[in-house]
Amino acid sequence: MALDGNVLAGPLAGTWAVDVTVATGRCAGCGDVAVLARAAVFDHPMGWVVRCRACADVLMVVVERPDGVLVAARGLTWVRG
Ligand SMILES: [Zn+2]
Repeated sequence: MALDGNVLAGPLAGTWAVDVTVATGRCAGCGDVAVLARAAVFDHPMGWVVRCRACADVLMVVVERPDGVLVAARGLTWVRG
């Protein structure tokens, strides 16, 4: 079951100085531009996998580690806070 992008507000608050509930991003796969809160977020034992609602490509992977939060955002062309 997919959560929505609002679940990322806490984990990303210390990493990015943008509010991900209102930040806009562009999918590198299909070009869809949407607020990240609309993304489909899937819980994973290591963190979260964030997928585009339009094409289901992976936008980013967020992993919480003891030494901080790791964010891989290869599926986003850009993010605007
Ligand atoms: Zn897409």
